[in-house]
Amino acid sequence: MNQFQSAYQLVCQQIQHACVNAHRNSNAVKLLAVSKTHPSAALREMYALGQVAFGENYLQEALAKIEELQDLKIEWHFIGHVQRNKTKHLAEKFAWVHGVDRLIIAERLSAQRLATQPALNICLQVNIDGQDSKDGCPVNEVADLVQRISQLPQIRLRGLMVIPAPNHLQAFTDAKQLFEQVKALHAHPEDWDTLSMGMSSDLDAAIAAGSTMVRVGTALFGARDYSH
Ligand SMILES: *Cc1c(COP(=O)(O)O)cnc(C)c1O
Repeated sequence: MNQFQSAYQLVCQQIQHACVNAHRNSNAVKLLAVSKTHPSAALREMYALGQVAFGENYLQEALAKIEELQDLKIEWHFIGHVQRNKTKHLAEKFAWVHGVDRLIIAERLSAQRLATQPALNICLQVNIDGQDSKDGCPVNEVADLVQRISQLPQIRLRGLMVIPAPNHLQAFTDAKQLFEQVKALHAHPEDWDTLSMGMSSDLDAAIAAGSTMVRVGTALFGARDYSH
């Protein structure tokens, strides 16, 4: 068994155990393989093991991989910070965008999604624990944004995405509560099915709190090397 195969099995088992412990269905949580900084060959190996959804943070790097791997039926997720002037590529090349935190970004994505494509899946990123970082909308704006974004024609607003501070596990419970609270404001509540939270080091706690999608990089691909 090669290195990716055992890592993939371990992560899948960990997700299953976390579901059992939380009395949740074992297919209630989707695995997003976070492949930033790793070469296309690594994604190809992971795909051969059965992994279909891959998450990327950096647009130029992602576009190169999308090109190199176009023979595979990969579901591409953008999980990085969304800049206003980069929305066109995101709208056209990805199936999902997780880091939407302003109305203008969602409006641009909707307008730039091609009419021939299915609606773009997005998550609203929330700064759930009030960190100083500029990413994620404030909690008190979520209700209004859900109401507005869910009405955009070429957008399917699927849920919330959070990246709490390390070891701040209460934030997962807060995110779940917020997720349930705002569902009623959604123009198409049947689309509201995704709580994107949990990474390599905290996926058990995220699943216990109600995550439906964990974004896992290091535990699948090994440590990232940013030196080149
Ligand atoms: C890099 C990244 C991940 C994966 O983190 P790991 O600790 O390597 O599992 C998940 N989500 C986001 C938004 C990331 O940027």
